Amino acid sequence: MNDDALMAQDREYIWHPFTQMHDYAQRDLLLVDRAQGIKLYDRQGREYFDTISSWWCIVHGHSHPTMQRYVREQLEKLDQVLLAGISHEPAIRLAAKLVELTPPGLDKVFYSDNGSTACEVAVKMSLQYWQQSGHPERQGLLALERGYHGDTIGTMSLGGVPEFHQAFAHLMFPSHRLTPPTCYRCPAGMPAPLPPAVDGREQLRCDCECLQPLAELLAREGERLAAFILEPRLMAAGGMIIYPAQWLRRAAELTRSYGVHLIFDEVATGFGRTGTMFALESAGVTPDFLCLSKGLTGGMLPMAVTMTSDEIYRAFYGEYHENRTFFHGHTFSGNPLAAAAALGSLAVFEEEQTIAGLSPKMAHLDRCLARFKELPWVGDLRRLGMIAALELVADRAGKQPFPAVQRVGWPIYLAGLEQGLLLRPLGNIVYLWLPLSTTEEEITTITEKMWQVLSNPANIAQ
Ligand SMILES: *Cc1c(COP(=O)(O)O)cnc(C)c1O
Repeated sequence: MNDDALMAQDREYIWHPFTQMHDYAQRDLLLVDRAQGIKLYDRQGREYFDTISSWWCIVHGHSHPTMQRYVREQLEKLDQVLLAGISHEPAIRLAAKLVELTPPGLDKVFYSDNGSTACEVAVKMSLQYWQQSGHPERQGLLALERGYHGDTIGTMSLGGVPEFHQAFAHLMFPSHRLTPPTCYRCPAGMPAPLPPAVDGREQLRCDCECLQPLAELLAREGERLAAFILEPRLMAAGGMIIYPAQWLRRAAELTRSYGVHLIFDEVATGFGRTGTMFALESAGVTPDFLCLSKGLTGGMLPMAVTMTSDEIYRAFYGEYHENRTFFHGHTFSGNPLAAAAALGSLAVFEEEQTIAGLSPKMAHLDRCLARFKELPWVGDLRRLGMIAALELVADRAGKQPFPAVQRVGWPIYLAGLEQGLLLRPLGNIVYLWLPLSTTEEEITTITEKMWQVLSNPANIAQ
């Protein structure tokens, strides 16, 4: 089929996610034919830098040969089998590896198949744990404004991005909300941290005064809370909000002091994105639940896990008639092909020493991005690991955002495609979410193209 015929059928049959289809009434979607490394190719041979890792999941670039080999070999043996009462080698080996890679205290692995379910599983486990551990009063849940944990009704209920979820507000279960540590617009009115020192040390200019509302909430509600769910160090979908490890450490200590479970949603930040294998490492805290998905299979196949402690696992363990079973599971929980892809990705981490190779790339990214601060419409520039975000503002001194109706990201998205860049701004936030395999040369090219887009006033909504 030629491209025109394909796109006619696309319009006829596909309803795309997070997409206003009307935008494509007169214009075709990008029709991707193949992908290699950081690049996507269409059938005319045009190439596009996948600067957002195909929705934050590609880790070692597309079509990595080691991962392809792992999946191909698995495909010869076992395609799919249920995980209820049955096991298989890829799921077993992957679980053992994940327990080894994460801090002590995360001892058990529960499989599912996407990030939303990974978070729902953690919430359900926490609630059921308290019921069967003599604390049925612990039913409350705490989450951050601007947090994002998925699009199911349960995870929307704990989400704080009203742009996405307000149509369903009447279905949401109640939960407590906390203002997030948005350092650029500090809720406590303190100055934002300086960039980290050369040795990586954080340079805060505050004492995390913004934690006071958490302390107050815990003093009031702490004994009735089951869990606090949050994205450690980087709130991705809520606007690429990067916050200090110090905040995470102190918030975790406070939460723990009231016996409340901590659920770390590392669906987006896991697997090297923030410069360490997991974002929690930067703060040295271990949660009661760790949710992983996007980068777990290196982005090749859908899979998710919820990890937790032996102690929590034991509260579900008993004779069948005691009714402690966790009745939850998905058709494709622990799918063997996905588990093989994940093992392949972890093998690449070892073979290529991916994490150790990040620091020169991150330093190069900083150098290449520094000049964007000169642009009058760039209010904030922030980076964590291989993720960088530019917050565009209508007025820099007043940090005045562009009104949502101006849709400042749309002309930038279109101009990016012209430059061979797949940029997908989140509202007023233009960001790079680079595969860890991105080379310094590619970083130079990408940021130069991004400069062509963002330095041109014609691309900025006025
Ligand atoms: C993407 C994302 C989710 C949801 O994952 P899906 O696989 O899209 O359901 C949950 N939490 C965070 C932090 C995410 O970025």
